[in-house]
Amino acid sequence: MIEKLHDPASGDDAVGYTPPARRRNPGGWFARAAETIARLVYPPACPACRAEIAEPGGLCPACWRDTIFINPPACSRCGAPMAFGPAEGLVCDACEHAPPAWGRGVGAVVYDGAARRLVLGLKHGDRLDVAPLAARWMLAAQGGAGASLVRAADVIAPAPLHWKRMLKRKYNQSGEIARELASISGKDAALALDLLERTRSTPSQEGRNRRERRENVAGAFAVSRRWRGRLAGRRVLLIDDVLTTGATLSGCAEACRAAGAADVNVLTFARVAREERPA
Ligand SMILES: [Zn+2]
Ligand SMILES: [Zn+2]
Repeated sequence: MIEKLHDPASGDDAVGYTPPARRRNPGGWFARAAETIARLVYPPACPACRAEIAEPGGLCPACWRDTIFINPPACSRCGAPMAFGPAEGLVCDACEHAPPAWGRGVGAVVYDGAARRLVLGLKHGDRLDVAPLAARWMLAAQGGAGASLVRAADVIAPAPLHWKRMLKRKYNQSGEIARELASISGKDAALALDLLERTRSTPSQEGRNRRERRENVAGAFAVSRRWRGRLAGRRVLLIDDVLTTGATLSGCAEACRAAGAADVNVLTFARVAREERPA
């Protein structure tokens, strides 16, 4: 089920997430004065459109309205929003016919509108301020299902970039989200930014269908040397910014399973909505 978020001004907490209470006196008057000056010089901006906002950490009202949160019912494997069905245990047609290589999958928002701008900003625009926001929404996703996946994980790892792309971009956007997820959840010890690596550079997945995407990334992922022999019996949670057909995450999950992982789940910020074809 997909649902446009209500304007936050209405008081609705549509994602079911209550941020920690703001600390009243984080560092005395000096810190408060420094914060006030910083806000005057750099007023907080909406991470999706750069409009000025009153409080940092959220979106402007127009971008809130332009964000589609994925609520139950959704496919329990790939996180795709479903029109109807029970809140738990649903499997979409695509996953029924070609199950992904992971177990459970949760996504926070539909890859459209403001969410698309957030992803592109994080991926190509050095907008690292998107990562904490994405992490909070992912934890709140599907009535806290995202947070359950994080809690249950022994190892939290991002989908990797090829080192050439990493050199160009300077950071892995999924790694930044994974870092925030682990930090907010007190699971820093589970964070494994270097768990997976791309063994070869793959052309962009854009413009390819499901089968072509799978072929494009087949055998492109491996557990890094540092982690070999350390995954046996562990529960891995893979983090990515966007899930389209799941080809990349399936490749990553296969590599983890081949290395002995007991369980592999995925948590993504955005999910590309697709037309459900009748079976
Ligand atoms: Zn905005
Ligand atoms: Zn599915």
